[in-house]
Amino acid sequence: MKKRVLVSGGAGYIGSHVTVELIQAGFDVVVADNLSNCDLTCFEGVKKITGRDDIPFEKIDCCDYESVNRLFSEFRIDAVIHFAAFKAVGESVAEPLKYYRNNLLSFLNILEASRLHGGCNVLFSSSATVYGETDKLPVTEESPRQPATSPYGNTKQMCEDILSDTVKATAAYGSEVMAGLDKTGPVKGIALRYFNPIGAHPSALIGELPRGVPNNLVPYITQTAIGKRECLSIFGNDYPTPDGTCLRDYIDVVDLAKAHVAAVSRMVENKMEDSYEIFNVGTGRPVSVLELVNTFERVNNLRLNYRFAPRREGDITAIWADPTRAEKVLGWKAQRTIEETLASAWAWEKHLAGK
Ligand code: UDP
Repeated sequence: MKKRVLVSGGAGYIGSHVTVELIQAGFDVVVADNLSNCDLTCFEGVKKITGRDDIPFEKIDCCDYESVNRLFSEFRIDAVIHFAAFKAVGESVAEPLKYYRNNLLSFLNILEASRLHGGCNVLFSSSATVYGETDKLPVTEESPRQPATSPYGNTKQMCEDILSDTVKATAAYGSEVMAGLDKTGPVKGIALRYFNPIGAHPSALIGELPRGVPNNLVPYITQTAIGKRECLSIFGNDYPTPDGTCLRDYIDVVDLAKAHVAAVSRMVENKMEDSYEIFNVGTGRPVSVLELVNTFERVNNLRLNYRFAPRREGDITAIWADPTRAEKVLGWKAQRTIEETLASAWAWEKHLAGK
């Protein structure tokens, strides 16, 4: 029988790419999204790419426990991939309660329903932000987490801990010790720590849809190239790096989506060695802001209007992944080149502009 995955936040940027890859790998998917930070553009794109018109879409807010509970009653769910969260670092500093309420409560509800409906496999979308600033590069999963520098980052750390504690506490469910608690079951968990997801599906039917002025580098670049923004500011060119700009590990969103398929397969096929596992999802390749801009210009044969600007507060100098563990254990490795990825980001921006 096909395994079914609930994708919370499945209409968003990463969620829509993951939905495509899950369906193409033979999973059934239920998409749940409250559309607070996206519309149905990407979900429609998912249907086109997969040729599937019957993907269940539930417009629910995971902060509402009854809605989540109803989903688990209606569908037999083998795994959950939880994306439904706010993600703007700056906004989280200005509105911490909004971030703590939304990001924690939605995840608590997912975990509560998971444990009360016979147990479930839960994949949490975490972030390399948990590593903070460190000199020991690249970072492995054993690298220590640093105190979070924003409420957003803190919710990622807290949700990792909540998942790990829940896994521990529910491990005995279903055993004789807990036999009185029928219908409850163990939660197993994987946290994927994403580095910098960029790019779009090669079909150019789904991609990132930032609301307002983009905070992230690549959507700012593509919007500048198309003429929506006047000029890209490169934040800082006096960092202690080869060209003075920050170093990041940019991971193609389709590669990232495939890491989710590998992780979910490991969970539903009962191949986990520990009931809670963590994987870095990156390429292992540091790329500077300037290199990224130059590569974007070269592969897309255009000139980008940019200038050097002061450093952005809170930015770290450099971070990139050691992706060895994901390769060894999940059999997953990033495949697309940065050139392919930046061409796909541009194709998506042109698709949005109707060009
Ligand atoms: N960046 C930039 N100009 C922008 C947006 C980002 O120079 O308009 C730089 C930023 O300083 C960082 C890198 O691009 O060094 C990646 O930033 P992003 O916000 O995409 O991801 P982060 O790694 O900060 O989460």
